[in-house]
Amino acid sequence: MIERGFGHRGQVVSDLVLVNGVVDAFIPKTHQVHGALVKHVTAEMGDLVMEADAFVATDPKVVCSVMTADCVPLLMWDTQARIVAAVHAGWRGVAANIATATVDFIRDMVPNADLRVAMGPAMGSSCYEVGDEVVSACAKTISDISPFIKATSQGHQLIDLKGILFEQLGHVGVMPNCIESDLTCTHCNTTYASYRRGDRRERQHSWIVIS
Ligand SMILES: [Zn+2]
Repeated sequence: MIERGFGHRGQVVSDLVLVNGVVDAFIPKTHQVHGALVKHVTAEMGDLVMEADAFVATDPKVVCSVMTADCVPLLMWDTQARIVAAVHAGWRGVAANIATATVDFIRDMVPNADLRVAMGPAMGSSCYEVGDEVVSACAKTISDISPFIKATSQGHQLIDLKGILFEQLGHVGVMPNCIESDLTCTHCNTTYASYRRGDRRERQHSWIVIS
């Protein structure tokens, strides 16, 4: 069985896991670095801090989680519950193809993984304005970025990170019918922390575990 969820601001992973009936879970200590590193987490890590932006687990009760406040959290799992992953994809992660790097990592470990993906609340495409440098960094990862951007002012555009993620995942065979996306905008909805709205410390936790 898989248990998973996208928390609100102020909710901590240990509580969220318990509320969903997973007892004796191991929650690895992690530090996100806005890169494209994927790491396998196990209970043997103990107190070791894993620096990465995507975490993969194959052991039951080992929780994969990421913290976000506008960036896109992605949860991935195999329908037979052999492997799970949590991914933090801000624009840097999207530009570095972190979602497809995680899919590759999963398939190296479980070659016939039947993957499903859920994207959680993030800053929406009608709010997330970025500079041209962000657009060009993300444009390198897909054939045509134009459906995912809208010009606002000179040098600035609204960008649809989730749209780009759908496209990237399609390139590695994870088709839209295997992906669900919560379109709640963290910037518009105060249930969630939003870095752009001014939250500097608070984040929401997204988590997944084989139970
Ligand atoms: Zn919004």
